[in-house]
Amino acid sequence: MIPRTLYSDEHLMFQESFRRFIEKEVTPHHDRWEAEQQVDRELWTKAGEQGFLCTSMPEKYGGADADRFISAIIIEELARAGATGPGFNLHSDIVAPYVFNYGSEAQKAEILPKMARGEMIGAIAMTEPGTGSDLQKVATTAIADGDDLIINGSKIFITNGYMCDFVIVVAKTGDVKGGADQMSLVLVEADRDGFAKEKPLKKVGMKAQDTCLMHFSDVRVPKSNILGGEGQAFMMLMTELAWERLMIAIGCVAGAEMAYAEALRYANEREAFGRPIAKFQNTKFKLAEMKTETTIARVFVDRCMQLEAEKKLSVEEAAMAKYWTSELLCNVVDEAVQIHGGYGYMWEYPIARAYADARVNRVYGGTTEIMKEIISRSL
Ligand SMILES: Cc1cc2nc3c(=O)[nH]c(=O)nc-3n(C[C@H](O)[C@H](O)[C@H](O)COP(=O)(O)OP(=O)(O)OC[C@H]3O[C@@H](n4cnc5c(N)ncnc54)[C@H](O)[C@@H]3O)c2cc1C
Repeated sequence: MIPRTLYSDEHLMFQESFRRFIEKEVTPHHDRWEAEQQVDRELWTKAGEQGFLCTSMPEKYGGADADRFISAIIIEELARAGATGPGFNLHSDIVAPYVFNYGSEAQKAEILPKMARGEMIGAIAMTEPGTGSDLQKVATTAIADGDDLIINGSKIFITNGYMCDFVIVVAKTGDVKGGADQMSLVLVEADRDGFAKEKPLKKVGMKAQDTCLMHFSDVRVPKSNILGGEGQAFMMLMTELAWERLMIAIGCVAGAEMAYAEALRYANEREAFGRPIAKFQNTKFKLAEMKTETTIARVFVDRCMQLEAEKKLSVEEAAMAKYWTSELLCNVVDEAVQIHGGYGYMWEYPIARAYADARVNRVYGGTTEIMKEIISRSL
């Protein structure tokens, strides 16, 4: 076992307390949330009360001024528990930083403490029915009308979308046919007239996570809701891209470790032809491969995490981590299902859920193909 060196004693204490939170407040309810396609609203306020939201935000805004290792622990522990319902990281580590880095003082003072308490849930809406990877083609518009903007368009696959109290929308504020320089980030409160959310979408996996389609018909917001200045969306989206992709990689490695552990446990329990299946050479070799590859991924991603903490992680390296670990996760869960035989296909087995949950990691946050595009551009 290659020892991990990322975490201090304080980090490990936080890990322990978050693990207990998941055991008490998440795992017992996850089945029901899967049926309801979203978690309970109270989960957010409970997480807020215990200091598990917006941890990296300054104390002034309700956060804990914590480093990103704390965020990594939250991702890992949720992945290990197979708890895909809570959209905490998107809220705390993607949406909150946009408000913090690019919002006005009034917006920060109003929104961030409520986000940290779980009283306000945030989402970010880039993808549209007509475009995902090709972000410059977004058709949602936010056209100036005096001191206001009038927003029209639709956004799809939005995490935390149904429960969100506000969403950061990528919209064209300039020439609709224009590219990156015409795009802005606009904060839209969920109670604005003309903002409609559809029920959470029925997904192959991550069933407890609220992912929805939303529509904007003549939604009026003040121009001051533009974050970071008109036409600046691309620049802002690029700034934290490496971290956002590394977060997915962190979850993928933890998920692969969980799948390996499940396969190992099952292989030792299940007997066939008078012996545990773990005794067959094929099973041993499959487990050896899974262990080797997850260990390699762990070492690489931990190193990326160190670089991220030193603000030295490049977009290309983060793309490598996201691409490779998401493919690895899918391979490992597939082998783990195989080791489980028919039981691996039954929903009550964690490995069946892990199989369904894993697949989207190769798609969201930028597809594997887009990751390869990014890497190849730098060669
Ligand atoms: C569960 C879930 C949660 C999500 N959460 C959010 C969210 O919170 N906010 C948000 O904005 N979006 C979210 N998304 C959307 C996600 O980021 C997009 O689905 C993803 O970026 C791909 O876009 P697309 O679905 O339009 O696929 P497309 O862009 O249409 O791609 C289709 C296929 O074409 C390939 N392709 C496209 N361009 C190229 C190229 N240049 N070279 C080679 N191949 C290419 C892709 O790799 C893919 O295989 C979520 C999606 C899911 C499924």
